[in-house]
Amino acid sequence: MQKTVVAEWRGYCPICRSATTFRAEYDWFRDHLLCESCGSIPRERALMVVIDRLAPNWRDMKIHESSPGGRGVSHVLRRDCRRYVPSQFFPDASAGSVRKGVRCENLEHQTFEDEAFDLVITQDVMEHVFHPDKAYREIARTLKPGGFHIHTTPIYKDLQKSERRAELLPLGNINYLFEAEYHGSPVGDGRSLVTWHYGHDLPELIRKWAPSLSVEVTRFNDPPQGLVAEFLDVIVCRKT
Ligand SMILES: [Zn+2]
Repeated sequence: MQKTVVAEWRGYCPICRSATTFRAEYDWFRDHLLCESCGSIPRERALMVVIDRLAPNWRDMKIHESSPGGRGVSHVLRRDCRRYVPSQFFPDASAGSVRKGVRCENLEHQTFEDEAFDLVITQDVMEHVFHPDKAYREIARTLKPGGFHIHTTPIYKDLQKSERRAELLPLGNINYLFEAEYHGSPVGDGRSLVTWHYGHDLPELIRKWAPSLSVEVTRFNDPPQGLVAEFLDVIVCRKT
């Protein structure tokens, strides 16, 4: 990655809700166009804009976030929503147990009751699950009717059909269908295997996997809110 001339402009951050400077020291804005006040990145700001738009009373909602991060939307939800339930998959903990305020859940086999949540949030998680069909079905099951799963995951503009990159074999081994690719992760050994590259068919796939979900994708290009980057899609699933 080339360190480039710093890009910098003034704007308004939808996460810390204040006038700020957006600044990038590298040309990959998706990870590097930071709000100088809260350190958020573009996809986090895009997610917040959509949450505010579709669920303006989110502070009073029951929200499940799978695999939250330590800043941006996760930080704001944890701080301002009383009924926010963060979960993380800990391989050594039993499902449904709570460790340091974080509930242990496998997104593909959740222990939450049916229709438990108004809102489910995932941020760049779905490209790391082996069975997104199960994950979306479980999210649909745990949403109240009318509830939303608002999430980000990279959608590749040059892919008509989504590609499975790696599969989990019955004995727990991984079969790599492409060269292994990892993203940084706040837990485990600090990296997370990419299991899927999603393409234009993602909304169709979600509707096939979880027929109770309607799906819309919102894409942003809004420099004043620091919304300029690749892979800036926010996917909105609504339980009908
Ligand atoms: Zn900010």
